[in-house]
Amino acid sequence: MQTHLADFIRDTDEGREADAILRKCVHCGFCTATCPTYQLLGDDLDSPRGRIYLIKRALEGAEVTQKTRLHLDRCLTCRACETTCPSGVRYGRLVDIGRALVEERVSRPPWEAFKRAALSFALPRTKLFAAALKLGQALRPLLPGDLKKRVPERTRPAGAWPPPRHPRKMLALAGCVQPALAPGINAAAARVLDRLGISLVEAPGAGCCGALRFHLNRQDAGRDDMRSLIDAWWPLVERGEVEAIVMTASGCGVTVREYGELLAHDPQYRDKAARISALTRDLAEVVPPESLSARRAHGRVAFQAPCTLQHGQGVRGLVETLLGKAGYELTPVREGHLCCGSAGTYSILQPALSTELRSRKLACLQEGAPQAIATANIGCLAHLQGASATPVRHWIELLDEAHAP
Ligand code: SF4
Ligand code: SF4
Repeated sequence: MQTHLADFIRDTDEGREADAILRKCVHCGFCTATCPTYQLLGDDLDSPRGRIYLIKRALEGAEVTQKTRLHLDRCLTCRACETTCPSGVRYGRLVDIGRALVEERVSRPPWEAFKRAALSFALPRTKLFAAALKLGQALRPLLPGDLKKRVPERTRPAGAWPPPRHPRKMLALAGCVQPALAPGINAAAARVLDRLGISLVEAPGAGCCGALRFHLNRQDAGRDDMRSLIDAWWPLVERGEVEAIVMTASGCGVTVREYGELLAHDPQYRDKAARISALTRDLAEVVPPESLSARRAHGRVAFQAPCTLQHGQGVRGLVETLLGKAGYELTPVREGHLCCGSAGTYSILQPALSTELRSRKLACLQEGAPQAIATANIGCLAHLQGASATPVRHWIELLDEAHAP
């Protein structure tokens, strides 16, 4: 695709990056086949190809309007288009650059601006979110239907976290909302890894990975969160005390894996960021399948592969293999590539599209009559559980239960 970027952006880092991405797109439209919003809305401007065109026009100096912003807001950043594109167009980076530009130029209505500011303030603050969740659970019977579904009835207890007794150590990210919603996930990961001779540790002061604010289009604040997390982890990394940084939420994993790129223009942090990204692994990548054996059959499970795992990190098939080795029967899942509609804060900001995608996803997941749905991301877990009678768990919790002594 030919481009003529406007003077205001042509010679900037973002301009050069966007130009290189745009030039790869041949406008073939293959990506439309796997785009959830195009599947639902059938409008080319709600497809990757259409959004790429809108971003190109904006970068070339065309007027940007509320309509431009609407089509970019509707994108889930699921990156299914990236895995489908035969030309290797890095749509995810392009949409970040396009959104930042559009946000600067088109103001939001007051209620929408308030919602985004409130989410950006509350969600990354672990203690505030935990207190709000407790209050929501106490008042749950009184909440209106839609809000009620968003507040889980109860939080499963975490269980024991083994003491750090092994010479092999890995670092886990506690995250921002996960400790309150599902404290058992990291504890289960710690127990599974402990049995493999690896101690899982968390660093004091390590908070949000930055994805939440970055994808709410507060990209500077998101980068500040990334720097804070690097600061919290760095002493352990610098001393060589941990051999990997393990992600139990694929939504955080995809972001931390890209710290090196996202902070590439920050001379103070770029080397540290690149080191952190190089050390980062999804949990499924550090549990060797040969370490597992099925002691008995544990029932049928449908695995929902989060977009941030399969499209964002390119991790496919590993969790299914691990669950199978541990004795679970994996049920077939149609449309496994399509997003469940969670997508960070998307489920709150775009409720209609999100709910439609969730219904479609749950119908596919439940076709094989599973006894549990497994996932690899806290956002997907909470979103799906809000409308599912079948329990939705993190896969590591199922693995932990299957292999508990
Ligand atoms: S992003 Fe890729 S698949 Fe989509 S139109 Fe461009 S080249 Fe084709
Ligand atoms: S990231 Fe997902 S929703 Fe956005 S354009 Fe690509 S496929 Fe469509």
